[in-house]
This record gives sequence, C-alpha cells and structure tokens, in this order.
Amino acid sequence: MNASTGSVFDETRFSADRLGSLGGATGSTDERLRVRTPITDEEIGTVASFQPDDVERAVERVRERQPAWEAMGIQTRAEIVDRFGDLVSNRRAQLLDLVQLETGKTRQHALEEVLDIVLTASYYGAAGPKLFGDERRRGAIPGASDAVVTYDPVGVVGVIAPWNYPLTLSMTDAIPALLAGNAVVCKPDERTPYTALAVASLLEEAGVPDGLVRVVTGDGSTVGPSLIDAVDYVAFTGGTETGRTVAERAGRNLIGCSLELGGKNPLLVLDDADVEVAARGAVKGAFTNAGQLCLAPERVYVHEDRYEAFLDAFVGETRALTLGCSFEYGPDVGSLIDGAHAERVGTSVDEARDSGASVLTGGRRRRDVGPFVYEPTIVTDVDADCPLASEETFGPVVSVSPVSSVDEAVDRANDSAYGLNASVWTGNVERGREIARQIDCGTVCINDPYTVGWAAVDAPMGGVGDSGLGRRHGPEGFDRFVESRTIATARYGPLEPPASLSNRTAARLLAVLTGVQRRIVRWRS
Ligand code: NDP
Repeated sequence: MNASTGSVFDETRFSADRLGSLGGATGSTDERLRVRTPITDEEIGTVASFQPDDVERAVERVRERQPAWEAMGIQTRAEIVDRFGDLVSNRRAQLLDLVQLETGKTRQHALEEVLDIVLTASYYGAAGPKLFGDERRRGAIPGASDAVVTYDPVGVVGVIAPWNYPLTLSMTDAIPALLAGNAVVCKPDERTPYTALAVASLLEEAGVPDGLVRVVTGDGSTVGPSLIDAVDYVAFTGGTETGRTVAERAGRNLIGCSLELGGKNPLLVLDDADVEVAARGAVKGAFTNAGQLCLAPERVYVHEDRYEAFLDAFVGETRALTLGCSFEYGPDVGSLIDGAHAERVGTSVDEARDSGASVLTGGRRRRDVGPFVYEPTIVTDVDADCPLASEETFGPVVSVSPVSSVDEAVDRANDSAYGLNASVWTGNVERGREIARQIDCGTVCINDPYTVGWAAVDAPMGGVGDSGLGRRHGPEGFDRFVESRTIATARYGPLEPPASLSNRTAARLLAVLTGVQRRIVRWRS
C-alpha cells in the first residue's frame, strides 16, 4: 500500500468503528492508549489503559466463572476449543487484515499465525480427553496399596503476549489453559491489542462462557505485575529481561510460570548440504516477519568448502525479495513494528559495519516503502565483540561465517547465552540428527529453519538458558495448567508393621518388604 493514499482503513475489511467497538472497554480512569499502525504510522484507535485495580477486578470476575467452566467437563471443552479453530479459519480474511494492520507484516506471514492457531486448536481439541483423565500409578506396596493421580485446573491463567505474533502468542497458551478448565486473562502488547480483543470474542462465539476470558489492555509495567499478583499461573512470551522480572514476581507469589523468551539462533550448513536449498531455507527463516520471530536464525555457520557457493545463493535469493506493505498476498517482507525498533535494528547494523563487517546486501531503512521498513540484510566478518554477533537483533539481519569442521560449527552454535532454536542443513538426515543432539537448544530442525519444529504441535517447544523456562505445545504445554493430586489408598489398614512386633522384628520385616518391593519394581520395568 502507498502510505500517501488516504487512510489505511480504505484497504482493509476493518473499519475504524469496528476497531473502536473492540477496544471499547473502559478502565477506572479515562486514560486511553493510542494504537498506531506501522504501515503508515497513523493512529488507528485507542484502548483502555487498565490500572492495577482494574486488573484485580478482571481476575476476580473470571475467577467467579471458572467453576462452571470446569464443571462442563473435558469433552465439552475440547469440542469448544476445536470449534474455535474452525471459527479462526472461517474468519481468516478479517483476522489477517487486523494482524497486518497492527504489525505491518505481510499477508503470508499473518497467515502463518492463523494456520498456527487452527492447528493448535485442533490438536488440543482432539488430544484433550486423553490429556486430562485420572491416572493409575504404582502403589507403595503392590497389592496392599494403590495410587491414583487426579488433575484439576490451576484456576486463573494469565497470558502475557508480545507484539510480533499477536494472534499466535495471545492464544497458543490460552487454548490448552482453557481446555484444562481454567479461566484466562490475557495482556497483549500495548502496540497490538486489537487482535487479542477480536480473537477473545471468537472464543465466546465458539462456546466459551461469557466473561471467562478477559483481555486487559495497558502498559506492561503496570498491568503485568498486577496480573501476576492476581492469577494462579503466568504464561509469558517476550524479551529475556522482562522474563526475569516476571519469574521473580511469580516466584515471590509461589505460582508457576513459563517463559518463552528471545534467541540468537544458529543455522548450520554442513559440507554435504545442498546449498541452494539451504539458502532458500535461510531466507525463509531469517526474513519471515522481517526477522521479528523468536525462532529466526540470526547466525549462519557454513562449512568452508560450501561457503562461497552458499553465500552466492543466499545473497541472490535475498536480493530477489520484494518489500512492501500490502493487504494482498505479494510482497515478501513487510514492516518492522515501530520507529524505535527500526532505529535499533539500523544501529546494530551500523555498529557492525563500523567495526569492520561487510554488508553484502541490505543495510538500509526504506522509508519509501513504509515508515519502518528495513531491507533484508546479510553481513559477514562480524567482530565477536560487536552486539550483532551475540545479542538478539530481532530484525531482518543475519550474519554468515565460515567454519572448518562440524565440531567448530557446533562449538560456535553453542557459544551463546540463548538456546531456543537451531537448524542443521545436510544431505544425510541421520548425521543431522546426531549433530542436533549436541546443540544446546530446545528445538533443532533438520533441513528446515523453524516451521517443522514449531508446527509439530504434539512436541514440546521452548528454550534453555536465556531463552526461557518451561515448554508450550504437546502434553507438556497442557500439564503447565493443571495441578495433580495423588490419592493413595492402603487397602488393609495403615502401612505399618503390626503393633505386636518388637521394633527389631518390625525393622527386619520392613527391610524384607522393601527388598520385595525393589524386585517387583525391577521385574515390571
Ligand atoms: P517485552 O518483554 O518487552 O514485552 C512482552 C510483553 O510483556 C508485553 O505485553 C509487555 O507489555 C509486557 N511487559 C512489559 N513489562 C512487563 C512487566 N514488568 N511485567 C510483565 N509484563 C510486562 O518483549 P517485546 O514486546 O519486545 O517482544 C519481543 C521479544 O519477545 C523478543 O526478545 C523475542 O525473542 C521474544 N519472543 C519470544 C518468543 C518465544 O516463543 N520464545 C516468541 C515471540 C517473541 P507492553 O509492551 O504493552 O508494555
């Protein structure tokens, strides 16, 4: 879209009025947060600026509705979650417009968010009943006792989401939390509140009871802490430093938390890789959502035998990318989120250049395309002390370095405080899997930059080190949101030796019983 042609709304299926009705909730003050679109930098609306008391009240209200939701049973909740996936799919045109309006990303990158939520909802919808049933476990003394584990929802789950994937990241944790029988209060980023508001109304349309899910809009440093003080679990996605403050607060309140944080993700091209394929994969990984993706590769290590060929292909593919802000499918790379972020990305490239790095392509802000658009950028010879070498850029910038062996590639991949996602490119999948085991990341993708790992929704996803704590997706992503209760039964009275035995005889008997128990355990395992 051309920033000079009237209002951004002219090209969307969303009107200013419709946005206004989404953000119509009021807090205890008249204060409103202004929301701007990165596409033209114009104001598109205002939303309530919740204060601590408002957040507390919102949590109290959803808490009142939670027992009835829990009582509906897992089968009904699973059906509602599945129906929600259908609704997101059916309403995708409007949702895509909204996501694009708030983030400035391209339509195909917005579509990834829609598809992700459809997949996640159908996965948890189908898996729900299996994830939630009572489980029989081995008792203390087989035959004389047994143990059954039952599960309850934790109560109210707080979801704190960033701006880069406002649909995916406001819902991907909310779905299993709801399925488990919890109420949810979601705090979206102040730059992207409307997607969360819109999708929360779709949850109600799918059958989630009115008022069980609330979206609390406002400044993170006000809303975030009060939310963490009021809920029973917090699922946070965002930057590492914010994640630390969230964990500290959750720790003080003795509630659980999961933290999906940043990454400085390595991509390894081995000597047996098809460099053309690897280059296409690197382009997809590094420049999806203009690099504002926690899983995006920012460091590429290529075996020296393939280095030149890979660089040629990678630079060629990158130069062929088209930039643009359009509500149609077309441009390959869209906008960054705002001016401050565009400045940060530009500064990190400039610093690298000033300290001797070569910019092979990109390296410029493109105000002619959009106010915050930055070119897809490839740099080489980055000084190890330069922030671009080790800190997350979170933009369309990737460094490439030659390595002389697999060991060096693995060492350099692991030389990071982060550990979110890595990818390995090879002609030999078994070799790739062996190398994957040596990489300190929560996800390692073979011959794909990130999609194959992220879209495997039955498998856990998360980071180690500065990339976070806990896992989303799969049974692990569900288990965060339940408390277990072990109900153990002594079938023939208390597990004690008969009172008639002397202490010495009782001790002998206990030793014999423990030995029998150990043999049974070994025999059964
Ligand atoms: P932030 O950590 O700044 O913000 C994330 C969310 O936390 C926002 O909703 C923000 O609110 C809120 N927040 C801010 N301060 C507090 C606080 N004191 N207590 C509680 N919540 C608070 O991250 P960004 O928005 O900059 O997001 C980008 C980061 O997120 C990147 O580092 C990226 O790697 C990471 N990320 C990780 C993902 C993963 O799955 N591992 C996925 C996507 C992103 P507000 O902004 O409204 O003030």
